[in-house]
Amino acid sequence: MEPLSPIMLGFFGSLAAGSLTAVGAIPVLFGRIPSRATRDLSLGFAAGVMLAASFFSLIIPALDAAELRYENAAAPAAIVCLAILFGMGAVALMNEKLPHEHFSTGREGPEAASLRRVWLFIIAITIHNFPEGLAVGVGFGADGLSGGMPLAIGIGLQNAPEGLAVAVSLLGEGYSKGRAWGIAALTGMVEPIGGLIGAGIITFSQPLLPWGLAFAAGAMLYVISHEIIPETHRSGHQNKATLGLSIGLVIMLFLDVWLG
Ligand SMILES: [Zn+2]
Repeated sequence: MEPLSPIMLGFFGSLAAGSLTAVGAIPVLFGRIPSRATRDLSLGFAAGVMLAASFFSLIIPALDAAELRYENAAAPAAIVCLAILFGMGAVALMNEKLPHEHFSTGREGPEAASLRRVWLFIIAITIHNFPEGLAVGVGFGADGLSGGMPLAIGIGLQNAPEGLAVAVSLLGEGYSKGRAWGIAALTGMVEPIGGLIGAGIITFSQPLLPWGLAFAAGAMLYVISHEIIPETHRSGHQNKATLGLSIGLVIMLFLDVWLG
């Protein structure tokens, strides 16, 4: 059997990771909703995984890739710093330009009132999930299976509590169990699109590799700080949220070193 191209790996890897969003949301179908404290703990876990993935699976490989191209140490560091800031800026810009609704902070952006709530949710999660798909795709594009697998597994794991959080929010808005689950599942399907784009860009242009890796890291870091951590601290479960974050962080670190 011929090995899959990095682009196909990027697509299938991010598709698999994105599918775990739907798996995580399954409890709502049966009306079994974990307590808020448990959800905050598991969403904290998601933040920890994203945090470790940003540094160990994206920023360090970005520095390694940049160092191969330049003699002095300042140029690779500068490239990676710039790309992180671009990634953060890109998500900040999307947050500002697209009308959407966060789990916690409510409506932001223009014309939010005229759009149906469900679409505001979908856009918010799209903004969130796109960088995650991008990260998985860039990982496979950069270094094949060993570069992409830790990211696909880590991002997949943290998608489960995120899918549950979205479905529970929709349930709270009065959506039926089936629709709440279906919409949460759909938000995960942005990831293969991001994955395809990420793997494609890296495969076609090697010089873009450090930029792509660090850009995806910056985009994820923005989401962690802007959305996930505030959400997990909103209901007074900071201790559980931080416990979840520590567990997610070390698991992702371990996965990256073990499989990477
Ligand atoms: Zn996430």
